[in-house]
Amino acid sequence: GSRPLYLGIDFGTSGARYALIDKQGAIHSEGKRTYPAVGQTTNWASSWREALFQLLGDIPSVHQPSVSSISIDGTSSTTLIIDRNNGELLAGPFLYNESFPDALPMISSIAPANHTVCSGSSTLCKLVSWWNKHCLNGGDDSAILMHQSDWLLWLLHGEYGVCDYNNTLKVGYDPETGSYPSWLMSQPYSHMLPSSVRAPGVPIGPIKEDVRSQYGFSNDCVVCTGTTDSIAAFLAARTTDPGKAVTSLGSTLAIKLVSRVRVEDARFGVYSHRLDDQWLVGGASNSGGVVLRQLFSNDQLVTLSRDIDPSSPSPLDYYPLPKKGERFPVSDPDMEPRLEPRPDSDAEYLHGILESMARIEVASGYKLLKELGATPVEEVFTAGGGAQNEKWTAIRERVLGVPVWKAEQTEAAYGAALLALRGATTGS
Ligand code: ADP
Repeated sequence: GSRPLYLGIDFGTSGARYALIDKQGAIHSEGKRTYPAVGQTTNWASSWREALFQLLGDIPSVHQPSVSSISIDGTSSTTLIIDRNNGELLAGPFLYNESFPDALPMISSIAPANHTVCSGSSTLCKLVSWWNKHCLNGGDDSAILMHQSDWLLWLLHGEYGVCDYNNTLKVGYDPETGSYPSWLMSQPYSHMLPSSVRAPGVPIGPIKEDVRSQYGFSNDCVVCTGTTDSIAAFLAARTTDPGKAVTSLGSTLAIKLVSRVRVEDARFGVYSHRLDDQWLVGGASNSGGVVLRQLFSNDQLVTLSRDIDPSSPSPLDYYPLPKKGERFPVSDPDMEPRLEPRPDSDAEYLHGILESMARIEVASGYKLLKELGATPVEEVFTAGGGAQNEKWTAIRERVLGVPVWKAEQTEAAYGAALLALRGATTGS
């Protein structure tokens, strides 16, 4: 037969994308769909389902028989409540950025202080808020919790209760012990948690026969566990050794560092995802490209950058924020943006802003992670719109003092495809 291909699908905030790769990681086909509009008769779940099957149909028919495994990533803490008797949606989807602070007092009373679940948008807050409204007086045992990627994968394999240890982090699963903590298991809703939590990129089971035959996928096509969208984007860069990091210069400035040591600090929104035998430590500043977008068009950014000499440090000392408030590497909800004095030259102004962001990224961000106990950064790969800017890369290299590269692949769909590859080739 033809040579096997591995399918990754990313369900991001604005749309869904797929990447189809071979064993060497070469991309054979890619595509994207925006989510069908959500309205009176469509909810988010049906919109995602539609996008999923549209993408499966978008795969060129020449490649469909080669599709040997599938994995999907979704936005972290996006939550659905499903009836396991018939697969129907009981509540949600509660989106990644929706907050349920009504559940916080109850969660704070059971979870350790500063635990990742102690945030209004955590999966556990979504679950507890729903439980309080519907089940306090004796729940229905058939309701179960699914994350966005669990649910989409479930549409393909049909087995209940399967999840990965990245998605379950924000519901309270401990990836270090490989179990839910006892403070969580003793709660009346614990039966709703995914019962089988596995590593990302391991086979769950064969794809449902009706789906397989509809799209003409390979006879042995398997569905594999997924991950969150930001982990998938990290995996795309294929940098999994300790000390390697990926900085994402998109709307916000986010850093992720492979560390031998697990690091958590809720004050700064720093927490660690498990990455096989290592930890992926992350933090995100409110600074980032959104500030640049407020000031300059992308074309202006390109033109102005030509006039920047990245080898000479800018004397301008800014703290670029889109509005009041910073969380990482300084936790200060009252911090004001500092973008003055503005020089006459826009190129000098941009130089000062880029250099100031480099200081936030490097001197503060990576330094803070090190202070918190993480493996020191040795090499940085860059993703997001800012990765295109070679002058900025050079500024960052000077300020950081380690090599800085543009990541070759940064699409989360590519990272999901690597998980599918892994699931198909390493066995369960
Ligand atoms: P998002 O997080 O919204 O997906 P992207 O990864 O698409 O963001 O990056 C978009 C950001 O990149 C914008 O905020 C824009 O200001 C910034 N950007 C675009 N081009 C450049 C450039 N040449 N130099 C620096 N930043 C840029």
